[in-house]
Amino acid sequence: MYKEKYKKIFSLLENHNDFFSNSIPLIASENITSPAVREATISDFANRYAEGWPGERVYAGCEYIDQVELECAKLAKELYNAEFADVRPISGVVSNLIIYSAFTLPGDIMICMPISSGGHISHGKKEYSGTAGLVHGLNIDSFPFDKVNMNIDIDKTIHKIKKLEQDKIPKLSMFGGSLFLFPHPVKELSEIFKEYNIHINYDAAHVAGLIAGKQFQDPLREGADTMTMSTHKTLFGPQGGLILSYDKFAEKIKKATFPGLTSNHHIHHMAAKTIAFIESLEFGSIYAKDIIENAKMLACSLNEFGFDVLGEKNGFTKSHQVVVDISKYSDGGKAEKELEKSNIIVNRQLIPGDIKAGRNYLHPGGIRIGVSEITRLGMKKSEMKQIAEFIKNVIIDKKESVKIQNKVKMFRNDFQKVKYCFDDKTKAYEYIKIK
Ligand SMILES: *Cc1c(COP(=O)(O)O)cnc(C)c1O
Repeated sequence: MYKEKYKKIFSLLENHNDFFSNSIPLIASENITSPAVREATISDFANRYAEGWPGERVYAGCEYIDQVELECAKLAKELYNAEFADVRPISGVVSNLIIYSAFTLPGDIMICMPISSGGHISHGKKEYSGTAGLVHGLNIDSFPFDKVNMNIDIDKTIHKIKKLEQDKIPKLSMFGGSLFLFPHPVKELSEIFKEYNIHINYDAAHVAGLIAGKQFQDPLREGADTMTMSTHKTLFGPQGGLILSYDKFAEKIKKATFPGLTSNHHIHHMAAKTIAFIESLEFGSIYAKDIIENAKMLACSLNEFGFDVLGEKNGFTKSHQVVVDISKYSDGGKAEKELEKSNIIVNRQLIPGDIKAGRNYLHPGGIRIGVSEITRLGMKKSEMKQIAEFIKNVIIDKKESVKIQNKVKMFRNDFQKVKYCFDDKTKAYEYIKIK
């Protein structure tokens, strides 16, 4: 009786892979992993426990796990030129929570990007169920944001800190965000933050691969005390987290990670992160360069078709993202659905000014487009022009979605393998049967 349900689930999984192999995946927080990373994630490491630090485990049976994990941390440190790496956090949110726990107490203040300007919900207030407020009881203050430059306003931030009363000084500052077009002014603000004893964390969830490829900014050299990230957005990893820092902060971070915020740390993902770091050391720099070139090309093409692409003053983007104000044609929610019908996968996005204009998260003014996955599939500048045209066909020309969908499927035929990796036996979205 349950066999039918069982079969149904597997057919849904296969349908999903088929859908993605025929789509243009443009979610900025997603990517595709190499066959090597996929293989590591289905190893027996997936079924084991290895609580604690290599060599000091809570359980036996960790001989090979320890060898991989020691290599994993070594490679992470090499990739980011860091003194200390904790490879155990299981996600970006958990990495941030580890930082909150290690360096603040409930009731302390954190200054970060407002969510409406690109901050992540894990930096958010309790009222929004943001992790920082809801889980760790932090009070949230926000960086003044400059909409024209699409960046933190340096002068206003310095002014703000200087004028704060003693009991309003933040304990923690959080750079980075989810809408992230240009490097944040860590260097410009680190001096004043240090003067006021404000711990500096840089959330590299989105731009971890660009930093690894040395094409964005170098937060640990610019004054960040700690850097948190997801391992799967612009980086080559499976879904997971990572924290990098200096030896002086190592003990606090290690304790907050275990036993504080993790018990088991998903050992198969740790193994797959190790492979991802190796791929990143070998191919990460050229990959990051190609991503940024593609993003610029896509932004320019969309702009030429009449779209209002944000960040024009600074060349639209220096990251993997392109953000478009779509409000003169549609709204972000509707646009997302229309594009999906044509097999073009983007996400709606709150953009600066939306809240004032009465727009909300369900129907915001923007869409966010990421080029990391399509770059990993080998797409280059001419494909960016074509994708911009597909988007124009859907949003501006309002062409029939079935027609565009067929064109998208044809266009996708030539891009079925993962590039920037050592082995490519398996197709990018090949459904692997082992049962
Ligand atoms: C995606 C994201 C996270 C959360 O990462 P997960 O790995 O999904 O938990 C944290 N911070 C920022 C800025 C993000 O964009």
